[in-house]
Amino acid sequence: MQYIFEPQARPSVAIADHSARFPVHRIYCVGRNYAAHAREMGGDPEREPPFFFTKPADAVVDAGVDAGATIPYPPDTADLHHEIELVVAIDRGGTDISPGSALEHVFGYAPGIDLTRRDRQAQARAKGLPWDWSKGFDRSAPLAPLQRVAAVGHPTRGRIWLEVENELRQEGDLADLIWSVPEIIAIVSRSMALQPGDLIFTGTPAGVGPILPGQRVRGGIEGLGEIALTVAERR
Ligand code: MN
Repeated sequence: MQYIFEPQARPSVAIADHSARFPVHRIYCVGRNYAAHAREMGGDPEREPPFFFTKPADAVVDAGVDAGATIPYPPDTADLHHEIELVVAIDRGGTDISPGSALEHVFGYAPGIDLTRRDRQAQARAKGLPWDWSKGFDRSAPLAPLQRVAAVGHPTRGRIWLEVENELRQEGDLADLIWSVPEIIAIVSRSMALQPGDLIFTGTPAGVGPILPGQRVRGGIEGLGEIALTVAERR
């Protein structure tokens, strides 16, 4: 194959205790998936089916606590928000996957942050416009090294939390996911062909809020390690 220029390298993320990296194909994200967060965003957690949006694969950033990740304050926003989430890494593709077999498609898990330009999202929602530019901007998907299922199993409970400048902002438990990981995999695979390398951000607990230029963010999920990053001054 000849290209007119050298193609960009495949985006990838680190794997804990492994020298190989996980090549990223697509990034799917669940909208409201914790009751308290659905309420804080003006929704009704009892009645709304899950909905999805995507980020580009090259939005990933290695943000394990040892990576020292610093990302620039993104352009085109004055209200950058954090959303700590359980991220599911898929290493076996499929369509119409049943919830009962869905976990066979999972390579591992990690804490990630669905960075959001909240002001752009609010404008899009008000006008019924797409969310893409509020969610899928450059470096909008930092995550910690993936923990392999072989090492951590399939967590269904555990504290999920996020601090900004050592102040606790978000706290929840994986047990409070409205739609479970197997259900999410099944639902996504009815609409899109899942592929090895897909990541799924599974939604955030309550307490989303702003990150100001220069602030340090740290978060984690019990049993799955921690994520840390600094948002640099506005460019
Ligand atoms: Mn989110």
